[in-house]
Amino acid sequence: MAYILALDEGTTSARAALYDEQARRIAIEANPIESTHPQQGWVEQDAESIWRAQLTAALRLLDRAKAAPGSIAAIGITNQRETTIVWERATGKPVAPAIVWQCRRTADFCAQIASSGVGPLIERKTGLVIDAYFSASKIRWILDNVPDARSKAADGELLFGTVDTWLVWKLTNGAVHVTDISNASRTMLMDLDSGTWDEALLDIFEIPRAMLPEIASSGHVFGVTAGEHLGAEIPIAGIAGDQQAALFGQACFGPGRSKNTYGTGCFALMHTGNRSPRSCHRLVTTRAASLDDTPQFAMEGSVFVAGAAIQWLRDRLGLLATAAESEQIALSVPDNGGVYLVPAFVGLGAPHWHPAARGLISGMTFGTGRAHVVRAALESIAYQTRELISAMEADSGEKVCELRVDGGASANNFLMQFQADILGCCIVRPADIETTALGAAYLAGLSTGYWKGPDSIEAFWRAERTFEPKMSADQRDALYEGWQRAVARCRA
Ligand code: ADP
Repeated sequence: MAYILALDEGTTSARAALYDEQARRIAIEANPIESTHPQQGWVEQDAESIWRAQLTAALRLLDRAKAAPGSIAAIGITNQRETTIVWERATGKPVAPAIVWQCRRTADFCAQIASSGVGPLIERKTGLVIDAYFSASKIRWILDNVPDARSKAADGELLFGTVDTWLVWKLTNGAVHVTDISNASRTMLMDLDSGTWDEALLDIFEIPRAMLPEIASSGHVFGVTAGEHLGAEIPIAGIAGDQQAALFGQACFGPGRSKNTYGTGCFALMHTGNRSPRSCHRLVTTRAASLDDTPQFAMEGSVFVAGAAIQWLRDRLGLLATAAESEQIALSVPDNGGVYLVPAFVGLGAPHWHPAARGLISGMTFGTGRAHVVRAALESIAYQTRELISAMEADSGEKVCELRVDGGASANNFLMQFQADILGCCIVRPADIETTALGAAYLAGLSTGYWKGPDSIEAFWRAERTFEPKMSADQRDALYEGWQRAVARCRA
């Protein structure tokens, strides 16, 4: 029996999962990852801890599943994107804590360049919106703040990597310094269309070319693990950033196929095939995972607070005992009673990009009760998703007829039905909602011939439940207008 091993290094945990030839998940293990917040808005992790958490999750998985290391046909890696690690080439020692994608320390610098003459050039070349979220300003921060880092980087003594690059470096004992195209497209240093590091961008961010990894397609043998780590030399044959891996794991391989992940935030991606549209609605364009050198693109929109609004109701307001309970509470009232909750706790993400906006609850009366507020919080997730999908449809000229969903909050049947209603399209929830790890496994299995081609993957994908829109167009429009009024207030 041969298996595919997926390493899924997320923001809050490092997971390892094992798949068989039918793409069934045999076992999964996770280790938590700690973040620290040394200053307001800063988010850091320890790169060595990320590596250890990932390695021990994989070892425990093999042990529990009683899988011999020699039975692993290939490894796929998926990772939290944009998180920035810089280490010494000679020793492998990180020179600073990993700066996590959520970290806002470079927000002022990003605002400066966004309003400078080079802003439009950066956005056109990278397909991104200038923001502290992406890696480039984080690398620059390390070069500016760690003693001697800039000169060492220019001499080739320091290396940069996102978490995929770091894990491959560790697994190969420093033999391979590489990233995949989907991760590279999130650094803000890659020309989106050519798929290469861009000299003009490197100049703007003052980053030496010598510290950057090689860019390869997502399905490809990147290297072979050193035998001492997992007990065998295993090809690392697939890499993709978490959202692109989820798109792949949802079998969204071609234009118009879309998925939305409902976790802490929401990440909606629409595959655009070999077209790389630039958004007029402040979405980003990114590289989708690709098995060969043919460029594949996706439009992406992210909402900062989705499932986290439910967590807030539970942990801060004490309105819920568990997140799952929100479903029954929302269904205990016939409608939202005119209440809207805009969870702009950290500003608004796409398509607004309004960092100064703050949360609000509007439309309350003496009749408003706990259930209305809970319902309004769940509905806010669906309205925010509609904003993203409407922007995607306008940019791409393609109507989304079916949205594939995953992530923790996609388990909520009320939310999924309301999403179908408010979008006017079918919501399809697959049997396996661990689509991120699955996507990494697919890439590794396809590029090594373990699976034959995307057609075999399509056959693995199974819907668990489909939610059809039932709401009238008038009601949908009236509710959505109410949401838009609430958003306008919170922006003001
Ligand atoms: P992440 O990967 O971002 O950590 P997950 O995919 O694990 O997130 O989803 C967890 C989030 O989903 C939490 O914010 C939680 O509040 C929310 N959530 C989990 N289950 C439900 C549910 N049944 N209904 C609504 N929200 C839920």
